[in-house]
Amino acid sequence: MEFATRLSQLNTEGAFEALTRARALEAQGRQIIHLEIGEPDFETPPHVAEAGIAAIRAGKTHYGPTPGLPELREAIAAYIGRTRGVAYSPAEVIVTPGAKPIIFYVIMALIGPGDEAIYPDPGFPIYDSVVKFAGGVPIALPLTEEQDFRFSLDDLKARITPRTKLLILNSPHNPCGSMLTPADLMGIAELAQKHNFWVLSDEIYSRIVYEGEFHSPAALVGMKERTIILDGFSKTYAMTGWRLGYGLMPEALAEQITLLMVNTTSCTATFTQYAGVAALNGPQTEAEAMIEEFRARRKLVVDGLNSIPGVTCRNPAGAFYAFPNVKSFGRTAKTVADYLLNEAGVACLGGASFGQYGEGYLRLSYANSRENIEKAIEQMKVALAKF
Ligand code: PLP
Repeated sequence: MEFATRLSQLNTEGAFEALTRARALEAQGRQIIHLEIGEPDFETPPHVAEAGIAAIRAGKTHYGPTPGLPELREAIAAYIGRTRGVAYSPAEVIVTPGAKPIIFYVIMALIGPGDEAIYPDPGFPIYDSVVKFAGGVPIALPLTEEQDFRFSLDDLKARITPRTKLLILNSPHNPCGSMLTPADLMGIAELAQKHNFWVLSDEIYSRIVYEGEFHSPAALVGMKERTIILDGFSKTYAMTGWRLGYGLMPEALAEQITLLMVNTTSCTATFTQYAGVAALNGPQTEAEAMIEEFRARRKLVVDGLNSIPGVTCRNPAGAFYAFPNVKSFGRTAKTVADYLLNEAGVACLGGASFGQYGEGYLRLSYANSRENIEKAIEQMKVALAKF
């Protein structure tokens, strides 16, 4: 069968592949502890789920406006105003089925053949995949353990050329759990304005922060007009399956993204959006309790990993991933991850699924119970002693 050549530019997401392999082992009767997939193991808060169900019962099951329901766009603009300290109007908000389409649409709207987009490596694998798909050139910006998994401004400067159109940021970061500092953001803002490029700020983990405060580049002087904020409900409100996310951007860009949506999804599910309004405007008790539980697990997983001979792990500042160094074993991280799946019954990812600079590390999601995390660490310890 022949397919269009552009498809060869797309990569997949390692987490979904690893999940499939783990499920295949489970089908053979093996017990697997899942630390591979990045989804909260909590239920959607009941009042949010009820709002979705009530919307279905009330017949909110038809097409809605392409960029999102006015109620939700308004709630998002107000929420971002409260949490980022920068004012947005509903016309600057686009609601999408999950946050991922914002990555796709923004890159499709901004990157043409030969245009360069700088992205964090290791990083979410969709960034460079979609840049290539759009005919652009992805430029990897290394995040190194020595710099607490942040990039240096000198490394960023060295990658900027007259073709640089876009810089992608992700803080708190998947897979490293690192966060950009206010000084980093100031340096980025200066470069973005000097060299006239856009910034796509993936803030999907902005509420899952353990140390310090979250800051968005959009809040800096001169940055709102060149920043796209990506956020959504998947992580903060444990709503991965509802498929609800959004982007905030200058109105002129929002109009182009609306055109891309008309040509693809038409609109986001209407009843899902009512659940989103309830999530943003209602009590935050469940979301906050979830974050506190992640904080306790973070300690468990980081202390546990550091107790395994040959493994070292930094304390992530946000998100729900640990990114331990396994270089001492002298094997690729994928070999270590495969061994752990088969020998320890623990599913995790090799860091190279997040880019070349992720080699030598594993990504473990701690969106699993404390009991399972403790069990996973014990099983890893026993298996790695024989590796
Ligand atoms: N951005 C990052 C960094 C992510 O880790 C994810 C999900 O794993 C997304 C975006 C996409 O989120 P959603 O499930 O809302 O599409």
